Amino acid sequence: MEPEKAPSEKPSHFIRDIIESDLRSGKHRTVVTRFPPEPNGYLHIGHAKSICLNFGLARDYRGRCHLRFDDTNPETENEEFVESIKESVRWLGFDWNEHLYFASDYFERFYEVAEKLIRQGDAYVDSLSEEEIREHRGTVTSPGRPSPYRDRPVEENLDLFRRMRAGEFGDGAHVLRARGDLASPNMKMRDPLLYRIKHASHYHTGDAWCIYPFYDYAHPLEDAIEGVTHSLCTLEFDNNREVYDWVLERGLKPEQIPTRPRQYEFSRLNLDYTVMSKRKLLQLVNEGHVAGWDDPRLPTLFGMRRRGIPPEAIRAFCDRVGVTKVEGSVDPELLDHSIRDELNARAPRVMCVLQPLKVTITNYPEGEVEWLDAPYWPHDIGKSGSRRVPFSRELYIERDDFMETPSARFFRLAPGREVRLRYGYLVTCTEVVRDSGGAVSEIRCTYDPATRSGEAPDGRRPKATLHWVSAAHALKAEVRLYNPLFTVAHPDEEGGDFKDYLNPESLVVLEGARIEPSVGGDPADRRYQFERQGYFWPDPVDSGPERLVFNRIVPLRDTYSRGGREEAAQEASRKQAAGVGEMALVEKQRRISSFSEKANQRYIHYTDTLGLHLEEALVLVENASLAGLFDRLLSEGIPGRTAAAWLVHELPREYRSLSPEEMPFAPGRLAELLALVEQGAITTGIARDVLAELIRTGDDPAAIIERHGLQPLTDTSQLERLIDGVLASHPEKVRQYAEGKTGLMGFFVGQVMRKTGGRADPSQVKSLLEGRLAE
Ligand code: ATP
Ligand code: MG
Repeated sequence: MEPEKAPSEKPSHFIRDIIESDLRSGKHRTVVTRFPPEPNGYLHIGHAKSICLNFGLARDYRGRCHLRFDDTNPETENEEFVESIKESVRWLGFDWNEHLYFASDYFERFYEVAEKLIRQGDAYVDSLSEEEIREHRGTVTSPGRPSPYRDRPVEENLDLFRRMRAGEFGDGAHVLRARGDLASPNMKMRDPLLYRIKHASHYHTGDAWCIYPFYDYAHPLEDAIEGVTHSLCTLEFDNNREVYDWVLERGLKPEQIPTRPRQYEFSRLNLDYTVMSKRKLLQLVNEGHVAGWDDPRLPTLFGMRRRGIPPEAIRAFCDRVGVTKVEGSVDPELLDHSIRDELNARAPRVMCVLQPLKVTITNYPEGEVEWLDAPYWPHDIGKSGSRRVPFSRELYIERDDFMETPSARFFRLAPGREVRLRYGYLVTCTEVVRDSGGAVSEIRCTYDPATRSGEAPDGRRPKATLHWVSAAHALKAEVRLYNPLFTVAHPDEEGGDFKDYLNPESLVVLEGARIEPSVGGDPADRRYQFERQGYFWPDPVDSGPERLVFNRIVPLRDTYSRGGREEAAQEASRKQAAGVGEMALVEKQRRISSFSEKANQRYIHYTDTLGLHLEEALVLVENASLAGLFDRLLSEGIPGRTAAAWLVHELPREYRSLSPEEMPFAPGRLAELLALVEQGAITTGIARDVLAELIRTGDDPAAIIERHGLQPLTDTSQLERLIDGVLASHPEKVRQYAEGKTGLMGFFVGQVMRKTGGRADPSQVKSLLEGRLAE
């Protein structure tokens, strides 16, 4: 085990203080802790807190930590769980060396101590039923009543207990109880149960026993047998401490417990948006809500390992959470933060397009390939190393990075707009290609050959930089995005079954992702940062050379490069103004989870059938009058995505505080306007102006267009005059273009479009420009 930091550098906490004081005073010379899991499930991140604490203290104070299986219940335990627990502890980076123990190995000694307690008159065999025992125990405000069997003579108790062990009685016929204090304010002290009869095979002791000790009896003895000094457990065992001490005092002679273990309680770790109890995790696994114990959505250590979370990040997280007595639940963002912190300096950057949109660079020679140098690391990491990425005529970019009708704050690719391709050139979108269903299937761009470094000689700076891959060279990959497993922070406190709050979008599989070819030669366990997306690694089970499958470990918080950061902020404030909000996923899920069945169906229809963005669908579902308007637009033949974009993003900006009922125009008018946009009769920019006027006057869009002279400018001779003007005022650029800087086309198109007030069709402008410049 590597010492990570000297104890003094580790965050201090009350248990550390106790240990340091015990060492100083000479009470203990060696610190002995233990991690005591019951092998009835796989470990989760809550256990990691206990592991880091116990093994961490042993390491820091040069003591030892035992791994002890607290296997006193035959019915739920098995060998598979034992092995998985060992594997998880090792994976987390800890080692018990030779100190591996099983509580079931001590059964004979537990039995001897029980006979001793009986002989001392400290324990008796009770023959009441479970129910009767509960009744006799009293309540917090009233003392317990003695069982009629409480005063059985010692000999009778001994005889019955021996026969219990010999298997003479059925399950539940008798129990062994301590003679505690029936009037104690601590209910746990009211004659606690020590043994029960259970005719069941135990994975470790087989059929050797049919009586099994209870936790409260076994645990202190286990600790004492092993010479544990500090027995750390979670807060809910606060009241058990009195029993713990009682068992040690009555059960063992002082010379048998030279190190006299003490129990200390700390608060358990809870995480929002998940469940942490083994029983509930078992249910999720057994009922098939997840794919297995190692499902990457689970908070199990197996799940987290498979997802790609490094153990170092979990240890750092546990340090951050600290050790206190304050109960609470931790925001998973804190875990994500620890993961990013760890991976930032460890995961080389590569480019992967999750949802590809084809891009053809029309002025790039067919068949040509340039291998561009791309550093693996940003400057601030201070690491060197790079790979080559191929650039060619056909590329893929992220579908989300293009908007045909860009909203006001969308600064990425759109018709007529120039962006930077990471490590490559500046490109300008000149044309949009649609499939037979009308969806954008490809975009065409021109590139500026003078911008190979990503910098333009004239210093112009596009607002966005996009990641991309070369279509012919990219490798196909499946990408699995993991989202919170539940839609509410505390699924077990919502009422009803916690499984009612499972998130239907906890796993999103993208089958058609494309990743740059460099990763093909990498080791199978390499973690990457996919630029602008997050941290990923190949799924250790399903990924292989024949079929790449990547798990998203954690998304990037800050997904935008320089210019794009403003864009992100502006986009967020725009959405907020529109009531959409840059919603945290969990917030979205909270809203979705409160949908009625009908609303839910509507939501699914909007997203799955009509292909709306999730946020847009949410806003529509939650706003009945907007949804009514939306349906009306659909019935008028406006495509869903166009209708949603205008209703959710454009309309609120114009009418601001008005509710749809108060809108001063008939819904049919809006449909007319959008139909004009769809037909390409007016540009988006013009349509916005018309919308503003429509809201003011309620007039017919065609009349507004007529009145303000907003008709599209299609007259060739008029356009050519404008083009000539633009070319005449930029003789230098014209010369450069003639010399081969064809990427300047985007610049010329933009200039002409500005002169027309956005009224021209950019592709018409472009073809006219091409003609003129070729002369
Ligand atoms: P669960 O309540 O999830 O079923 P458990 O307490 O029954 O867990 P054990 O196998 O008894 O599971 O736990 C082994 C050790 O891990 C115990 O010392 C327990 O206190 C500790 N532990 C379990 N859950 C947490 C948690 N959420 N936070 C901190 N420590 C935990
Ligand atoms: Mg337990």
